[in-house]
Amino acid sequence: MKSYNFAPGPTPVTAEVTAAMSRPILTHRSAEFSAMLREVSDGLRYLFQTKNDVLTLTSSGSGAMEATIVNLLSPGDKVLAIVSGKFGARWVELCDVYGVDVIAIDVPWGEAVNIDVVANSLQTNDNIKAILSTHSETSTGVLHDIEALGALARERDVLLIVDAVSGLGANDLRTDAWGVDVVVTGSQKGLMLPPGLAFVSVSQRAWRASETSRNPRYYFSFDRAKSSLEKGLTPYTPAVSLLMGLAEILHEIQRIGLETIFAHHAVMAGATRAATRAMGLELFAKTPSNVLTSVKMPEGIDGGELLKHMKQCYGVTIANGMEQYKGKTIRIAHLGYAVDAFDMIIAVSALERGLAFFGHNFELGSGLSAIQQFLHMSETIDRASAG
Ligand SMILES: *Cc1c(COP(=O)(O)O)cnc(C)c1O
Repeated sequence: MKSYNFAPGPTPVTAEVTAAMSRPILTHRSAEFSAMLREVSDGLRYLFQTKNDVLTLTSSGSGAMEATIVNLLSPGDKVLAIVSGKFGARWVELCDVYGVDVIAIDVPWGEAVNIDVVANSLQTNDNIKAILSTHSETSTGVLHDIEALGALARERDVLLIVDAVSGLGANDLRTDAWGVDVVVTGSQKGLMLPPGLAFVSVSQRAWRASETSRNPRYYFSFDRAKSSLEKGLTPYTPAVSLLMGLAEILHEIQRIGLETIFAHHAVMAGATRAATRAMGLELFAKTPSNVLTSVKMPEGIDGGELLKHMKQCYGVTIANGMEQYKGKTIRIAHLGYAVDAFDMIIAVSALERGLAFFGHNFELGSGLSAIQQFLHMSETIDRASAG
């Protein structure tokens, strides 16, 4: 049986990237490697929409989240963390581990943070050093308004640190223009690489904060990463094969252009949302991200059972809800520009069959009809605007 993966990471790796990663390993103290690293740095600045340094760490995304806390904050520093799902909660867990005094702004799962609540919290709490947020909250499918948070952070002169592990490369995130100090991402989501690399952009304000941070650090020192990068080196042996794949995908991303990539994600997301609505499912995210579509399960159908059936009988993997929403929501990813309309048609048709199998009351084919209509409409609009 063929298998189809619609989990929000790891995402599909293109044949070109696979080929790039299978080339002979460059030694990391060679001129070729340095040239590649410089190219990669330019590509990362394009992807992150920043003129600042983007550091590459050999870890998963959470490693870069931890590195950010370690390098920029000190025990006793006060921060706000927006917690609207599992990944927002990770910021709180990290702060707790490192003795950072964290005030959690709890947002109901499925909702985005209300900016006024953050503004009030900055007003009523003295000496807040940073706001920690998620861009696209992968556990709920919600997109937070990073532009508004950036404006607030600049007005109040606090750092804005954003976990964009799933969102970068799918939803627009203008690091410099929106005043974001740190953006963290990982290789296995929007970048469509295997897992194993993490990236972090660091603003001038964030560098100044790193100078006063009292946390001990060694492998994950931003300073070491930066001074090596300036010489075209990495402080330790990097994941060379992954970097070769990164060089390839960044070329592709620059060739296609971020705007086109964001627009593609918007169409895939719009089409998937339209299909799920037509099947009588309710969207879980009130302000949905284009990374994934999170929907509530109808009364009487357990998401876990449905997904197990879809995997076993159709070879289609969709992600379960997380934590208290396990079984109650499911999450269909459309992440990475290589995911196309026909992929989403497969996801929708498998979901329809699964729902029908478990007795959901709807017209079989309504999801497929809706996704086809949506895709047809966006193609027509495209042609009109091109012509
Ligand atoms: C996947 C993900 C992470 C965790 O990344 P790892 O690479 O598994 O460490 C963090 N935040 C968000 C929003 C994610 O989607």
